[in-house]
Amino acid sequence: MNRFITTSIFDIFKTGPGPSSSHTIGPMKAALLFRDAMNGLTVDMTQGPLEINVHLFGSLSLTGKGHGTHRAILGGLLGWEPATCDCDLLGRLLEDPKKIYDIPFNGGQNKLEQIEAGPIKFSSRHIHFEDSGTERLPFQKERLPFSNTLQFKLSQKNVLLLEKEYYSIGGGFVQGKGDIEKEMAPPPHAYQNMNQLRKILRKTGLTLSQVILENEQAITGKSKRQIHEGLDKIIGIMCTSVERGLANDGILPGPIGLLRKAKVLMENSHRMQQETGRFLAMLNAYAMAASEENAAGQRVVTAPTSGSAGVMPGVIYLLKHQYHLSLAQLREGMLAAAAIAFIAKKNASISGAEVGCQGEVGVASSMAAAFMTYALEGPMKKVENAAEIALEHQLGMTCDPVGGYVQIPCIERNAVGAVTAVNAYILAEAGDPARQKITFDEVVETMMETGQDMCTRYKETSLGGLAVCCVSC
Ligand code: SF4
Repeated sequence: MNRFITTSIFDIFKTGPGPSSSHTIGPMKAALLFRDAMNGLTVDMTQGPLEINVHLFGSLSLTGKGHGTHRAILGGLLGWEPATCDCDLLGRLLEDPKKIYDIPFNGGQNKLEQIEAGPIKFSSRHIHFEDSGTERLPFQKERLPFSNTLQFKLSQKNVLLLEKEYYSIGGGFVQGKGDIEKEMAPPPHAYQNMNQLRKILRKTGLTLSQVILENEQAITGKSKRQIHEGLDKIIGIMCTSVERGLANDGILPGPIGLLRKAKVLMENSHRMQQETGRFLAMLNAYAMAASEENAAGQRVVTAPTSGSAGVMPGVIYLLKHQYHLSLAQLREGMLAAAAIAFIAKKNASISGAEVGCQGEVGVASSMAAAFMTYALEGPMKKVENAAEIALEHQLGMTCDPVGGYVQIPCIERNAVGAVTAVNAYILAEAGDPARQKITFDEVVETMMETGQDMCTRYKETSLGGLAVCCVSC
């Protein structure tokens, strides 16, 4: 495992279909990895047809249906990529549980055999939601981080030809069983936490965005211009998700029958007499709009996850349209937000299945607070302070999506997370950072400890909390 932070900005901010980075984007990526492994095999196709079976465990098993995990897996097996797939088409996969899909296979011994054998037939009966969520695989007993587990099996006439195990570890990141993280050279500004990052800034005299940018250049080999263009694209996709959400109304997909609210909130804001009410209604509307698009399975940006994909866009849209910040200022803010996500991921987790919603909406809110403070040219100490305040007051927040759908409490929680971020900025602005009693590193450490102590049923299983109290849903 790399000692220092070597995550790319574009691994934190990645585009993909909603509603969940760990249950949708991660499984799709795992299926793509399995597809590659499968196509590397040489198989005697004359021995009979091939069959793929996918087994889901832990929270993937319990809330996978509501999160569209089965559709994402099929999409991946079909070769669809999270960043480019047609979200509407993805949402319609497996609508008919009996429909048979053709998975292309390129691993036959020769072309003629492949043509004769045809593609692999796949339907919903090949996806197995395995356990009650309380049963854990042996490796999970040792290493709880991997509560979202997928097993892929390729067989021919009941003979197992290939088996792979993947872990969806949050934010769309996927790890294969036994994978050893590629050892990377430390970036020019190597750090593990906020304390070390602070020291680098002091020693080099560089700004936070310069440090993050120079590290990104070293990690990815991209030029500064390419990174800026990538960030502009991400900001654009985030703003589009807000605008689409503000334009859409009606009922969200799934059995809950939840009515979209962002458009109404926005309309209400125009009628409000009080400026404060108007401001809050707009911020809530922006964050809910992106979050509702996520719940509808549309394209969003993980920030740091899809479940929390409304918080950052809400605050970005606010700063762009109400504070009239330039694209260059927004870009600077994005680099500060990335630093917060890196540290939270490295020292705790950004997975609801691992630490609860504090790791998703809590971290998103912390990122947005840092984003706002930095974009508005606040000093580094205030950036850290704002990020700390936002996360501190969301510690212990559980993950309890009703029915396994990223709707209740997720959508409103994104709006509350965005408001908390702005509030954290205001509180940090008023404080003296030199007298700040709790550091960002301390609050991240506390989040991890709290997450480890949190009962499993509050970690994206839908077995506790609001998920079981909502009888009418
Ligand atoms: S409750 Fe939070 S962590 Fe859980 S699915 Fe919803 S947004 Fe994600």
